Amino acid sequence: MDKNEIMLQGFEWNLPADGEHWNRLAAMAPSMKRAGITSIWLPPAYKGIGGAEEVGYAVYDPYDLGEFDQCGSVRTKYGTLNQYTEAIEALHRSGIKAFSDMVMNHRMGAEKAERVKTHVVSTDNRLDVHPEVQDSVLYTKFTFPGRKGRYSNFKWDSRRFTSVSYDKKDPDHQLFLIDGKSFATDVDGELGNYDYLMGCDVDVNQNAVKKELIRWAMFTLDKTGEDGFRLDAVKHISASFMEKWLTTLRSLTGMDLYTVGEYWSSSLPALLNYLKQVHSCMSLFDVPLHFRLYDAARSDGSFDMGSLLNDTLSKADPAHAVTFVDNHDTQPGQSLESFVSGWFKEAAYGIILLRGQGIPCVFWGDLYGMPYQHIKPVRNLRLLMHACGKYAYGQLYDYFDHQHVVGFTRFGDEHPGSGLAFLCSNQGDGEKQMFVGKENAGKTFVPLHGKFPPVRIDREGMGLFRVSEKDFSLYVPEKVTRRRRTINKKRAASSAKRQVINH
Ligand code: CA
Repeated sequence: MDKNEIMLQGFEWNLPADGEHWNRLAAMAPSMKRAGITSIWLPPAYKGIGGAEEVGYAVYDPYDLGEFDQCGSVRTKYGTLNQYTEAIEALHRSGIKAFSDMVMNHRMGAEKAERVKTHVVSTDNRLDVHPEVQDSVLYTKFTFPGRKGRYSNFKWDSRRFTSVSYDKKDPDHQLFLIDGKSFATDVDGELGNYDYLMGCDVDVNQNAVKKELIRWAMFTLDKTGEDGFRLDAVKHISASFMEKWLTTLRSLTGMDLYTVGEYWSSSLPALLNYLKQVHSCMSLFDVPLHFRLYDAARSDGSFDMGSLLNDTLSKADPAHAVTFVDNHDTQPGQSLESFVSGWFKEAAYGIILLRGQGIPCVFWGDLYGMPYQHIKPVRNLRLLMHACGKYAYGQLYDYFDHQHVVGFTRFGDEHPGSGLAFLCSNQGDGEKQMFVGKENAGKTFVPLHGKFPPVRIDREGMGLFRVSEKDFSLYVPEKVTRRRRTINKKRAASSAKRQVINH
């Protein structure tokens, strides 16, 4: 019997830059397994411009997994190549899959500048490309002198990029399209065309670049034994390229290569459109759900809880959704700050962990805390993760039918003792009659969280469940002990005997 999956985002932004993170993950693997984690999204493991301090997204050399003296150090923020591969081996020994974070949109930290002809582009409307050609000096030459051609001889220069944000000769403008290039058209339409995000934008429509990005991924898989990918910034990368890249790797390796893309948009139609463009070859993070959770958390009770799941990917296409409450970009102080906090965070985790719609991704900072920002681990998160693995099975029945008190049930299945009832309230104490399935008629559901008496399920499979204001409640089938089973059997036998005598 398969256990429910829980993905862990294996880092937060402000982890100490002590080069010990891979070692920590290796040491923690057994306890992660016990917490119910089945896979982990690892931070970018390669060298970025910040060297030993770099979180990973300002990528310099993706072949340098903490092996070469580049950007001021051999190791990355998280450790060395050997420590990385040992961490993945330790995760595998604990039955946890490892997904690597692939940043393909941009490069940063070129060693040399070169003279290039460009066009100025309006930053707020990228369709407005100025017709005049100007002479620019761009930092676009990457030769990786520290690596000396190991693993790949590919050198990056202005021919391999579409656009950059810095021209040494023209500090007044912030975006330059290299003459003869054009932005990819199958990217997000924000700002007219959102191909450009940062650094030197990789021209993925060149055959040489396509081949190189496949070579790199094959190198990474071969070197590390990773099981799949988290794709960074896919809304800024040609959708047709992304699909081709992933399907080519699957056919070359014969592996499933589970993949989740980061398409950072709160618009469900934008996400569904992207999935259509890539023929659903990957899952996407449910960003619309994150924003609904965020809005609910900061509304102080005025949010219509009945609408919480409206226009979310996990509702529209659960098979291709990865649900999350927060991540390294939404945590306090980061670029997309929209941190879900307060009591509601627990309810939010209950909803993503227990409904079984999409794969839930638990954020490192929520599970282990964020000491740098004095933020403690989320209360009851471990309880909810445990409940995910043990009880959250069988048919889902939703009760998102009230402004303040909403919930859902799972009927349970062949997983022993499974089934649950969940409620939360953003205003006022509440109670709700909920259906837990006829198969649970006569059973007793006991609160795993919430101080309430047990609930007897009636013959129709209904129970009256309660919740306190600004809290969640979670009920699960009462554990039937061997003693209780024996008593029940004796009672049934004596009742049968009585019936015989009465006749
Ligand atoms: Ca791009």
